[in-house]
Amino acid sequence: MSSVGGIQSFGNYGNYANNYPLNDNFSAKEDLHSSAHELPNPGKTVLAAGILQGIAILLDQASGWFGKKLINGKEFTTAENITKTTKHMLEKNKLDVYVDFIDNQNIKRYPPSLQSALVPVAEGKNAFYTDNFKLAVAPKNKPSLILHELGHAINANKGKFLRFLQKSRGYASAVPTALLLANGLFKRDDNKPNFIERNAGYIGFAAYLPTIIEEGLASLRGVKAAKETLGKTVNLRPLKRNYFFAWMTYLIAGIGLGVAAKQSMIETKR
Ligand SMILES: [Zn+2]
Repeated sequence: MSSVGGIQSFGNYGNYANNYPLNDNFSAKEDLHSSAHELPNPGKTVLAAGILQGIAILLDQASGWFGKKLINGKEFTTAENITKTTKHMLEKNKLDVYVDFIDNQNIKRYPPSLQSALVPVAEGKNAFYTDNFKLAVAPKNKPSLILHELGHAINANKGKFLRFLQKSRGYASAVPTALLLANGLFKRDDNKPNFIERNAGYIGFAAYLPTIIEEGLASLRGVKAAKETLGKTVNLRPLKRNYFFAWMTYLIAGIGLGVAAKQSMIETKR
């Protein structure tokens, strides 16, 4: 859900592999058969491609691990306390947002177009805020995720810069392709790698950095609101832990985008 128009999703797990045009078809065998005289350094290219593919697989596994930790994470307080904190966030920030905790029953109240996005929420696997519908949802059995989503709602209403950070994620997944196109424009005759080829990994990661920052900020706002509303009556550690796991899936997705961008460059050398 994380890259679907305007939906700020909770954690990037599950969607990870689908978000980027990762080069799933790579096979070292096939590459070794490509005509060597066309390439400046075929052995090095094959090795680099293999290493990048290995990193992409490890990142995917790490993302899944953090996603699982998040799904199995404990709730830090009662549903009533979450509702109290939710009210505090809405009032303090004058937010006009509809908040709902989804289960298999109340999901039926929503239009079919939203239901597909709500199924993982009812299953306890996702939460999201959508600025288009001014709607924030979390699973009924994991209500604490709503505080992070309301953090997104606050970000959406706190000026142009934060809004830009939030909107940028819609374009991030297009980066590997965009770099490929840009690289064609900057092609040099002397076979030396140009700026884009040399920095594709960093550019890819940089494109995702606004999302990583905005996600962290949304969580900090949620934790702050819980502290303000509930004070020392609750232990915030499980909340911070869950939010950390979610944030890690975004950090990993950013590194993954860097790897995908680098991979797309190596593709052109084949
Ligand atoms: Zn989020």
